[in-house]
Amino acid sequence: MTTPMMQQYRSIKEKAPDAILFFRLGDFYEMFGEDAEVAAPILQIALTGRDAGEGRRIPMCGVPYHAVDNYLSKLVNSGHKVAICEQVEDAKESKGIVKRDIIRIVSPGTLTESASERSNRYLASVYYAEHWGLAFLDLSTGEFTIFQTTDQDVLLTEVARINPAEVLLPPDLTKKPKLWAGYYCTVRDRQTFKDQTMRDHFEGQRELFQEFPIAAQAAAGLWNYILETLPGVDPTHIVEIKTYRSERWMFLDQWTRRNLELTESLRGAGKKGTLLSVLDLTQTAFGGRLLKHWIDKPLLRQDEIEGRLNSVEELVSDSFLRKDLQKLLSEVYDLERLMGKVSYGTANAKDLLSLTQTLALLPEIRTLFDSSSAESLKVRLPDLDGFEPFVTKLQSALNSNPPLSLKEGNIIKTGYSQEVDELRLISAGGKEWLAQLENSERERTGIRSLKIGYNKVFGYYIEITHANAHLIPSDYQRKQTLSNAERFITPELKEYELKIIGAEEKLKDLEYELILALREEVRRNTKRIIRAAQVLAEIDVFVSLAEAAVRNHYVRPQLKKDGQIIIIEGRHPVVEEMLEQGAFVPNDTHMSGSQHLALITGPNMAGKSTYMRQVALIVLMAHMGSFVPANKASIALVDRIFTRVGASDDLAAGQSTFMVEMQEVAHILNYASKNSLIILDEIGRGTATYDGLSIAWAVAEHLVQDPQFNPKTLFATHYHELTQLQDEFPGLFNLHVGVKERGEDIVFLHKILPGRADRSYGIQVARLAGLPHDLIQRAKTLLLKLESSEPAHTLAKPSEVITQFTLFDVPQTHPLLQEIETLPLDDMTARQALQYLFDLRERI
Ligand code: ADP
Repeated sequence: MTTPMMQQYRSIKEKAPDAILFFRLGDFYEMFGEDAEVAAPILQIALTGRDAGEGRRIPMCGVPYHAVDNYLSKLVNSGHKVAICEQVEDAKESKGIVKRDIIRIVSPGTLTESASERSNRYLASVYYAEHWGLAFLDLSTGEFTIFQTTDQDVLLTEVARINPAEVLLPPDLTKKPKLWAGYYCTVRDRQTFKDQTMRDHFEGQRELFQEFPIAAQAAAGLWNYILETLPGVDPTHIVEIKTYRSERWMFLDQWTRRNLELTESLRGAGKKGTLLSVLDLTQTAFGGRLLKHWIDKPLLRQDEIEGRLNSVEELVSDSFLRKDLQKLLSEVYDLERLMGKVSYGTANAKDLLSLTQTLALLPEIRTLFDSSSAESLKVRLPDLDGFEPFVTKLQSALNSNPPLSLKEGNIIKTGYSQEVDELRLISAGGKEWLAQLENSERERTGIRSLKIGYNKVFGYYIEITHANAHLIPSDYQRKQTLSNAERFITPELKEYELKIIGAEEKLKDLEYELILALREEVRRNTKRIIRAAQVLAEIDVFVSLAEAAVRNHYVRPQLKKDGQIIIIEGRHPVVEEMLEQGAFVPNDTHMSGSQHLALITGPNMAGKSTYMRQVALIVLMAHMGSFVPANKASIALVDRIFTRVGASDDLAAGQSTFMVEMQEVAHILNYASKNSLIILDEIGRGTATYDGLSIAWAVAEHLVQDPQFNPKTLFATHYHELTQLQDEFPGLFNLHVGVKERGEDIVFLHKILPGRADRSYGIQVARLAGLPHDLIQRAKTLLLKLESSEPAHTLAKPSEVITQFTLFDVPQTHPLLQEIETLPLDDMTARQALQYLFDLRERI
């Protein structure tokens, strides 16, 4: 026979076979059998064993319940699901073994513990039926969004953008596993996507579901999963489903987001070196999250953008308001996450106190605007109103330093509940009363050594030494005899003992009840609080954008529909911050419908990429409603921004194949319109020279030959041959980056100038990089020879390219050949070898 506890364990384990079961025993969560074997090494805890009955031992390990968050995150982040099983009845009331059940199943998408507060952790759900439907939810903040599209690429780009911790899929969608590679996927029965519960919860949003029926199914599947993994929880903090439509937001594909380093750097160094890092001067966690959304989703409609710009401008010009708001916002807690905890029933008294302190700031925040003319911001303020009575109640109820546990008392402030006060008086007054009793009994009996004590077995007692035995009053009842004394109780003492001990118990129970009632009251106000949080988040973002604008000397961009991008003294917001003050060289930009493709040449390291990205970032910042790093900027509204960077620049990100580069170029050509902005940085670099040249040439031609299709394009290339296109196509104009020769050396001026670069200065760059003198001399000789044998500027069409000059025409003793001969090929990675080839090409 197995033990009853193991029987209980088995029956519960059957309910969650694919999860590791955390089985609550006393102060520990225990894992058994295979679960223990899997978890112990991940959690780095000892694997022991336990008697499972019939003399068998099964593997076991355990973690203390108070530190469970950390262990939970470790297991879930290594791709496991964890089912948490608790006692579901009071041990005191149970007969036999205490009832236990699973209260929560935690998977990567439903983990709310130890979340990074400035970014979201999403659970996503995808459904397909002629259209693609996507739903995603951040359980900790309640942000719930749906999206629908006919285009698989758009869907996948959105999934990549939100980078979900877990994706729910119906079985048929898993037939193409490649689509979901890299995501943690959970397959859900098709039926769960038809579940009605979600529609009931969000009753008021029927129209939304009618408009996006497939996305609504994805949402239904997601909701069903939440309810299943959080049995018994009513997620009230999820008050609304949002959607975004393509006509409101600019869609940025994943390559563009990455290349422009909007919220993550290419080097994978997190936020550092990104646009977000420059603009994020938010004070609150939810403000930080909202700013990230704004960067990811620039607006398209001029009125909306101007609305945001107005708010930023108001805060730029009113520095008092800005500073005062910053100060108050810095005291604001993460309301969204707090409300998440309230609705999961995990909020403790400290959380409620943080919430109260935050809500108490609202009137102060409001009055700041009284003396300000910040009209566009004032419109949002009514949502901050009306919390006073509620706050007063919470303030009068909550102690200023409550314990973490709700069951230990010391939560409710004196004066809030008469009953609490009375019980507290009794339990605190107990000591005083006993001292008084001791005194009066001493007087009554005349025994000076009489004392009152307490022990666990007998409770309170009066102790009298044997020497005084003759003075013991008749109402004393003997309880215990010691070697030199005897212990007694009196009915009066017994009664009081019951009262004191009872009072303490009662007090704890009562305080627990009261705090639960308060929490419930907070929960009933969820919608209002979340709305207030959203207003605070917006204010925080506006303040942050204004602060960044002031600190970094940005200007308000003029938004125009004239198809022109005119930027005077533009700067790259991130690069300028990394350089010493004043070291960044500003550059102008003039592009229009008729002069729409800028072909940029210049040596490596001259600043081509920086310049092109600067233009893209300024345009993007203008569309998100931010001021921009320039002296003046007039920006045509664009529908999309595309960027593509040549393969070799992408090596660091592990995407080096020419194929990927070409797919991305194809993507741009398919999706760009005449109102798009395109950045192409050295495309064609990932293949043999003449292939690359031909492709770059054809792409440039494609972008300028049709007057109806004239997207504004910045095109950097090291193929100088392309500069001749200017003569043939009026839409194309040449730019180059200025370089000054100083003796044998060159100095980068970082100045963008009209016209083509006359030379590529590869050899000078190599010299700067420290290649040996002999080698540089030899390279110069070779260059002369090459230039005389290959009149590149006469190149008419790529197909007519002249005989290729090969390395092997040079004498056998050439130092480069010797270098290649001694190259440690076996020790080099493919990447190093490729990099060497590129270096070599620069050197010949
Ligand atoms: P390219 O694309 O021409 O190879 P980059 O744009 O990568 O060159 O620029 C190389 C480096 O030159 C940058 O990392 C930056 O430090 C510096 N740089 C670029 N543009 C400027 C500028 N306008 N002012 C000052 N320094 C610049």
